[in-house]
Amino acid sequence: MNPQAIPSAVETQAAPGAGAGTAGASTTAESTASPIYDWQSFGFETRQVHAGEYPDKNHGLRVPPIALSAGYLFDDFDDQVNRFNGSIHWRAENDGPRGEGEAFSPSEHAPIYSRQGNPSNWVAEERLASLEGGTVAVAVASGQAAISAALFTLAGRGDHLVSTASIYGGTRILFGRSFKRFGIDVDYVWNENDGAEWERAIRPETKAIYTETVPNPCNDVTDLRRIAEVAARHNLPLVVDNTVGTPALIRPFEHGANIVVHSTTKFLTGHGSAVGGAIIDGGNFDWAAAEAAGRSFPLITQSARAGVAPMLERFGTGAYARAARESVVNDIGPTLSPLHGFLLHQGIETLSLRMERHVESSIKIARWLEDQPEVVSVDYAGLPSNARYNIAVRDYGVDAEGYGRTGSVFGVTVRGGLEGARAFVNGLRIFSRMTGIGDTRSMVLHPLTSTHSSFAPELNDRLGITPGLLRLSVGLESADDLIRDLRAALDRVAAL
Ligand code: PLP
Repeated sequence: MNPQAIPSAVETQAAPGAGAGTAGASTTAESTASPIYDWQSFGFETRQVHAGEYPDKNHGLRVPPIALSAGYLFDDFDDQVNRFNGSIHWRAENDGPRGEGEAFSPSEHAPIYSRQGNPSNWVAEERLASLEGGTVAVAVASGQAAISAALFTLAGRGDHLVSTASIYGGTRILFGRSFKRFGIDVDYVWNENDGAEWERAIRPETKAIYTETVPNPCNDVTDLRRIAEVAARHNLPLVVDNTVGTPALIRPFEHGANIVVHSTTKFLTGHGSAVGGAIIDGGNFDWAAAEAAGRSFPLITQSARAGVAPMLERFGTGAYARAARESVVNDIGPTLSPLHGFLLHQGIETLSLRMERHVESSIKIARWLEDQPEVVSVDYAGLPSNARYNIAVRDYGVDAEGYGRTGSVFGVTVRGGLEGARAFVNGLRIFSRMTGIGDTRSMVLHPLTSTHSSFAPELNDRLGITPGLLRLSVGLESADDLIRDLRAALDRVAAL
């Protein structure tokens, strides 16, 4: 746009009594273009700022407010009846997620109680669904809640899941402890390229394949297309944790995923201030075909009670997310606080900018670390030395020098094993010693004695979790300052 065409602030200040909507104001055709509600045809950067916003017709608030209310007023007796039976959709007089006459979004429903939904969270949900390219999102209280609710919507007692082996330690613990207690077994595939391993793992009672885009700590990016082929062949939904990748770097639905989950605690909220999670429905899984082929998903394809049609019939491509929200999330109650929903949709506004810097600094640091004598290895898939470099380049793109853009969470192994790791961690001053990733701040953690401390030594060996391995999450500080910090820590390793 020509900057000179933008009127100055003084020019745009209305004379007293002449504001839009005041008595006597002329309403010509050119006075105000109608607001945009459907952002889907816009670019990623526009959608991360605007998707999901709605006009506040009471006060003209530009930023969607924090809707701190546990419940909602019913207009009258019949309104209450209709909201509970789901026969009316959310359409408030003065504000609401969409304008009059705009397309109905399946995430919009007449609210009953904030355990099922809240205007602050709806903004975050629509924004995330838009950025991932899905149909409907459900915000929940944490990443672990998102993974649990996503999978409990698909599987119950006696069912089975198959996961790739290299996943976040907390998820492996969740599968091995709580899922096991609830009667859901999980088997792992170690080599996603080994077709026979998949065939051995998948059973008649398997209900989903689970994987991550960029597993941590080893940045061993998965071949989503390969896994999606296996899932499709077996009529199984592919559930992908995209916490470390983020939709700014990779959108799993474009590679064949059917459901995406996030720990929004990390890059999405972005500033390390709020725990949260989300489930996003790709709207691209054929539930009816799976049912016909013998894979049953009763919460989606079967009627919950007499007289109520199945979710699939009522909500089509948003049926899975609706089932997750109304069945599992509503029943168990891992509700995201509206305050955290606000922090989430606000954080998302700058996602692509932050990810650019995270990746740029990570590549610089990973390359520098590879050349340091105290470093045994650097696990960053975007480096040409990495076994998964080709996947990195194909799915995540490259920087100007050909390095793959696989995020900012990766492993570095220092000389000296456990003692080397201790000296390194204690020598850092800018990197924060803490558990967490995806913050503006850089962080360091020793996986063997933290996220992976409850695993058997043989499992950790197989996962590559060695005594000298450290997980780095590169933040938004100056990369040169971070390199100086790492050099000072490596000096301590050298002095051992
Ligand atoms: N998924 C991944 C990839 C993670 O790294 C984490 C946490 O570190 C989680 C899920 C769990 O998220 P939360 O801590 O928000 O429950």
